[in-house]
Amino acid sequence: MDLSEQDLHDLIELRHDLHSHPELGFEEERTSGIVARLLEEAGIEVHRGLGGTGVVGTLRVGNGPRAIGLRADMDALAMPERAERPYTSRIPGKMHACGHDGHTVLLLGAARELARTRNFSGTVHFIFQPAEEGRGGAKRMVDEGFFDLFPCDAVYGLHNMPGLATDEMAVVAGPQLASSDSWTVTFRGIGTHGAKPHLGKDPVTAAGHFLTALQTIVGRVVDPLQPAVVSACSVQAGNPDALNVIPDTVEIGGTARAYSALVRDQLEAEIGRLAQGVATMFGIAADYRFLRRIPPVINDPDTTRRALAAATAACGAKVRTDFPPSTAGDDFAFFSQTVPGAYVWLGNGPAVDGALHHNSGYDFNDAAIETGVRFWATLVQQELTP
Ligand SMILES: [Zn+2]
Ligand SMILES: [Zn+2]
Repeated sequence: MDLSEQDLHDLIELRHDLHSHPELGFEEERTSGIVARLLEEAGIEVHRGLGGTGVVGTLRVGNGPRAIGLRADMDALAMPERAERPYTSRIPGKMHACGHDGHTVLLLGAARELARTRNFSGTVHFIFQPAEEGRGGAKRMVDEGFFDLFPCDAVYGLHNMPGLATDEMAVVAGPQLASSDSWTVTFRGIGTHGAKPHLGKDPVTAAGHFLTALQTIVGRVVDPLQPAVVSACSVQAGNPDALNVIPDTVEIGGTARAYSALVRDQLEAEIGRLAQGVATMFGIAADYRFLRRIPPVINDPDTTRRALAAATAACGAKVRTDFPPSTAGDDFAFFSQTVPGAYVWLGNGPAVDGALHHNSGYDFNDAAIETGVRFWATLVQQELTP
């Protein structure tokens, strides 16, 4: 598949238009409107409004029984764009700093190309997801019945990656992105005069023991060959203007990251066990909450093999299979924990002026459009062979 010069020109124009009109999660009215219109124009069946502003385009060709889902995210970030470019964000305080404008264009380009050539047999669902950046778009699409409406045998996701060349991809089996969960512990003691600790129950000393023991979960409980992170990121207690008062409570909160369901379960159980144990030791109480936000993205071996074949067809020998996983998260996991999935990286070229994802100078690289569209279109042709 080769994009015509006109097609490529149109996709670049569209990418710049989306870049200059960024929209935050669940507010992608303009973007999803453009997506739905361009899919419909190409003769693709369109379902709007799944997960608020989500759009799913379905293309059925021939009678192949297999169905696959390809996901692009559409949302921008609540941050100002500090770079000067002809298509700089026109919306103050919002910018496409993660390249989702590019993801949207790649999948649209492939959808339109496939609707024209129709050289496969089966069903492809083009998933345009809202609110990837921490607002729960994928979960909402799944909760609102995505897999009932659009049954899939496999799902695929793609993210741009600075540092890889624009004709380069990375496709790796196994863990790609970490789970991203939050937790809070509140130690409840009995407040008292700082000079008379024996008349109360001091939660501050208990909190100190908890914090020093916290890293023993990763060091002593989790398998040393399994990556895991537990961090306490917030500690609230007492008042610097009342240095003779032992407070009633100490509130601690943090994050937990893992690359497997087993380790994720362990972190949830162990942080709580440690909090309760320390509380018991000091004769106070502890309230524990673990908030499961995003599961890890783990690439299924067979699905990854299929993605690798398509990436190899799209970029030749420049496909990396040794790329390290990221400690960031992506809610694509809500799709790929339901059916087998693969998440791949597409090169975005060198980091210009050091700007990486979520930097106020970041930009998707138009030179990657051809590779990305070719990858998606080839994947469908290979996956759904007549
Ligand atoms: Zn991001
Ligand atoms: Zn992103």
